[in-house]
Amino acid sequence: MVIFGGMNSACTPWLFAIAGMWLACQAAPPSSIPPQAEGLPGLPLLLRDSSLIDHVAIDSGGIRLYASAADRAADRPEVIIYPDEYPLTAQLLRSLPWDSATNLCLRKGRDRWPRRFEAPPPMPAPSPDSSQPLRGLRVALDPGHIAANPETAEIEGKLVRIQASAATGGRPIAFNEAQLTLATARMVRDQLEALGAKVYLTRDAPGVGALGLTFATWKTEGTLDSLLDAAIAAGDLRPAEAHIWRYQTADKDLMARWFLPQDLKERARRIAAFRPHLTFIIHYNIHSPNWERRDGEHILPPGDANYSMAFVPGSFLPGELSASEDRIALLRLLLTPDLARSVRLSDHFIRASQQHTGVAPVDSSIRLVYLDKFSLPAGPAGVYARNLTLTRLIPGPLCYGESLCQDYLPEALALSVPDTVAGDLPAPRRVAEVAAAYVATARAYAARWF
Ligand SMILES: [Zn+2]
Repeated sequence: MVIFGGMNSACTPWLFAIAGMWLACQAAPPSSIPPQAEGLPGLPLLLRDSSLIDHVAIDSGGIRLYASAADRAADRPEVIIYPDEYPLTAQLLRSLPWDSATNLCLRKGRDRWPRRFEAPPPMPAPSPDSSQPLRGLRVALDPGHIAANPETAEIEGKLVRIQASAATGGRPIAFNEAQLTLATARMVRDQLEALGAKVYLTRDAPGVGALGLTFATWKTEGTLDSLLDAAIAAGDLRPAEAHIWRYQTADKDLMARWFLPQDLKERARRIAAFRPHLTFIIHYNIHSPNWERRDGEHILPPGDANYSMAFVPGSFLPGELSASEDRIALLRLLLTPDLARSVRLSDHFIRASQQHTGVAPVDSSIRLVYLDKFSLPAGPAGVYARNLTLTRLIPGPLCYGESLCQDYLPEALALSVPDTVAGDLPAPRRVAEVAAAYVATARAYAARWF
């Protein structure tokens, strides 16, 4: 593959660092975090493909972002950040929601930041005392998914159903990941608040997303119409296509194409506005090869694999720097310690998970397409860079946790019985062990890194 085609001759050590990263991506996964260049942490984990050089150049003159390969070839950057602007830019990007950050940087363009331009001051560090070890720690929690009933969970593609057999005690198993994540988040919130932390949940009512709407309300009371109208106005959708979306499209497709992307971006926006010290994105996994074995009625065979993992930002793939908001997210990851701190936080989480749930991190004996093709090992066991909407758009240290495999038969049996109350929701006892891992992670992180 030609890596440096079209690049200007002002190659500096930064460009060679990027080249080294790409070459590393073609080889076996690194066993530890590659060395970080001074001043701009995270490069080795950020880009997974050499085609992304079309959008970014880094040299002694600063960081230049390009909207397209043609702009790169003509050296027509949309944004330049000069080296003496790195600290101010980092502070701005760390403290603003993704849409505000994008608009601000695009307005700056190739100019310098205005004189006496100031970023919001960093949030004060936690101030623990003997009774409240997390006093002042700001934690955002994002309970994954939304559905509160089996019908919506099926539309969302997150309903776990396993056929009745002797192994299940003759009973069919059915439960919904969104309810597990919400119960977990509420438990984590209650425990962190008792330790003095300030906690924000992106969604707090069953079935209601970050916009404050159920899927049914979103679809029927104007929000979908507004989205489609905006897409037509922007030239992204023809009126005839909008008509099909509005009146002839299955709920499953509406959810995937319009509801979930809007909901995820809103989660990221609200988390940034809360200005957390750290964010946990809470999920429960499915062993994806087993998910592919669902029958015509979407019923799973019992799974035989169980593992934990956690995602951090990075591993941008071809085409994933095409939008300006994504290039500004990359800029933040270049200029801030967000990625390195996310790896640290997630390493804590994987260790705490093993301690509290008994589930080991995923290892190389388990082949998963999304790890092999879309992710990069971040160093610690079970921690991977992956460019998901929330790993990309949430500023600050984050851990996107996948605690266990819901389809693993012992887990499925445990998760399908709501035998306790967690955060005022009926829930299986197992979520308490998962919640304990998140709480322990917040405590460990706060104790070591503030
Ligand atoms: Zn999930």
